[in-house]
Amino acid sequence: MKKFIDSSENVAPTTSSSKSSGSAGMTRREFAGAATGMIAGLLGSSAGAFAAEPPGNRGQAISQRILLKGGVVLTFDANISDFEKADVLIEGKKIVAVEPNISANATVIDASKMIVLPGFIDSHHHCYQGALRNIQTNGLLEDYSRDIVGEATPFYRAEDAYVGELISAVRALDAGITTIMDISQVSHSPEHSDACIKGLMDSGIRAVFAYARGAGPKAQYPQDIERLQKQYFSSADQLLTLALGTQLIQEQWAVARKAGVRIFTHVVGRPAGETILSWGRSGLMRADNVYIHATGVSAELMKMIADTGGGLSIASPIEMTMRHGMPPLQRALDYGIRPSLSSDVETTMAADMFTQMRSVFTLQRAMINERAINGEKNLPPLLTARDVIGFATVEGAKVTGLEPKVGTLTPGKEADIVMLRTDLPNVLPFNNAYGAIVAHMDTSNVDTVIVAGKVMKRNGKLVGFDMDRIAGMADRSRNYIVGKVGWPRSVLDTSRPGR
Ligand SMILES: [Zn+2]
Repeated sequence: MKKFIDSSENVAPTTSSSKSSGSAGMTRREFAGAATGMIAGLLGSSAGAFAAEPPGNRGQAISQRILLKGGVVLTFDANISDFEKADVLIEGKKIVAVEPNISANATVIDASKMIVLPGFIDSHHHCYQGALRNIQTNGLLEDYSRDIVGEATPFYRAEDAYVGELISAVRALDAGITTIMDISQVSHSPEHSDACIKGLMDSGIRAVFAYARGAGPKAQYPQDIERLQKQYFSSADQLLTLALGTQLIQEQWAVARKAGVRIFTHVVGRPAGETILSWGRSGLMRADNVYIHATGVSAELMKMIADTGGGLSIASPIEMTMRHGMPPLQRALDYGIRPSLSSDVETTMAADMFTQMRSVFTLQRAMINERAINGEKNLPPLLTARDVIGFATVEGAKVTGLEPKVGTLTPGKEADIVMLRTDLPNVLPFNNAYGAIVAHMDTSNVDTVIVAGKVMKRNGKLVGFDMDRIAGMADRSRNYIVGKVGWPRSVLDTSRPGR
């Protein structure tokens, strides 16, 4: 097997810095780091050799150069272009060149049957719920509020939060998502917040941790943000960035602004929109705001979002199936806002960006097509496949505040890259890069995933994750939570409302 990355950069210290106490259902060692041996599988060595790898930022610079050779390269950089055939040179964690026919002393990855593009960005995901994925496919928002928020979440222990974060992040990486905005409303105690951060760190994904509320007597939200910021976010040169997930409470926005972090707020329905609009009239809506869903917002509010430079995170499949209201796609586009895309809750819908892209692509076109059929003239343009890939990449980078680092394949940016196979039955023969991605591909096409120059997936397989161990942890966490709430454990029993 060809040596791919210098193993010396992946050899871990032998001590663990975990502060967790091993508790029921999970061993200390499991909680200390399930995502071990990131590159071990690739090197043919045992994943066990990395079992003591401590939590921490996996995005350390690697010295070796990697050359992605001969792919269709979609840069999404307006100043470069997309290429029928080009190379991408990575040095350490950065992209250093994107052009045809690069010669370099580098480890070569053959991209000749690949589309090379920026890693996908999921701009809103409640990662802590990973162990409850697919548990409420038929649910509405009211079912979710009752069962997931009201019943299950209060039972979460810190290690359940950890496992949820980890498996959500691993699933994201597997699907080509290199950045995830995590808004996990499970900060029942400072230990819960720590566990969320640790789960993200142990996965190796790039993430915005939007610190969010919890419940119970030990909850320290939002003031614990000061400790979190000092403890985990003192450097800007790391994979994790801090933000604040807020409710419609002005004091929470003030806490975020004092800390200098972005503000992510769910806005569902017209009354919520009217509240935000009234704050906007007082000058409180700013460029650090990201509005999640924004279903039912008035034209006036959408204009205010555009005028104040705020961002949008649309979770189209969730909004449609759970009765949040119609995704405000066209209203956003009418005011010049390009939305980012998000998967929201895995309790109800798949968290991959192919699902998100296909959803907004067909929805916007359906709405415009219906207006055309009804005789309306001078209609807004139909979304194109390239438009929605931009939503899933560069627009995600903008709303998470990470555009200076990621979102396009631009020399100088960090190398967050996904490579999609074009030689599989679902896209043979290969005719159109943008169309293939949006209309025909799925996660089976995700061949290689790179985060900050580190290879997280290669040849269609996650690199270095002990999936048996992670699956065991997820099983035990799910059993604990579901046991506590007393839900049926049958995979066929849908007797419960929303199941
Ligand atoms: Zn949400």
